[in-house]
Amino acid sequence: MKIICIGRNYVEHAKELNNPLPEKPVFFLKPDTSLIIRNRPFFYPEFSSDIHYETELVIKINRTGKHIQEKFASGYYDQVGLGIDFTARDLQRECKAKGLPWEVAKGFDGSAPISKFIPLAELEDAKNIRFHLDLNGETVQTGDSQHMIFSVDRVIAYVSKFITLKTGDLIYTGTPKGVGPVKIGDHLTGYIEGRKMLDFRVK
Ligand code: MG
Repeated sequence: MKIICIGRNYVEHAKELNNPLPEKPVFFLKPDTSLIIRNRPFFYPEFSSDIHYETELVIKINRTGKHIQEKFASGYYDQVGLGIDFTARDLQRECKAKGLPWEVAKGFDGSAPISKFIPLAELEDAKNIRFHLDLNGETVQTGDSQHMIFSVDRVIAYVSKFITLKTGDLIYTGTPKGVGPVKIGDHLTGYIEGRKMLDFRVK
């Protein structure tokens, strides 16, 4: 399986990092070794001193598809989870300045904690999914899928022009504003529509 992550998919987040608004989706990949499941702790890596959380809705692909038309894209996923796209912001800054790929800043081991998945059918409105992250009990990020610049369906249509999507692939759909640093000892809890999805510590 592969993990596809969308960058700059919420206006306010693009602004907070001084990035221009994208005209088409920006995406990058993380390896499967970046996943952390079952709320296991995130171990702060020694190669960075500025790891940021980015809380994101994650959809799981349930059929193989290539060149998927946007109007059919909703037939390719039926579950949503919550993930963190941990980013070594210091390394990313260096990559951006030199025009280099982002993998060292985005794809390291443990950079993608992921929750369990819940069926979209269980949600009141699958086009308007609210989520938030609490850091040590204080809400630091809130998001709503209706504020994405590129909808999930549009992202699937775009990405599948270049890369075949397969069952089990994950798409991290981008973070809303409010990203910030974590430190050892922090406690992160993440929610979709009030349901606790993530609950883990930084060690
Ligand atoms: Mg992200």
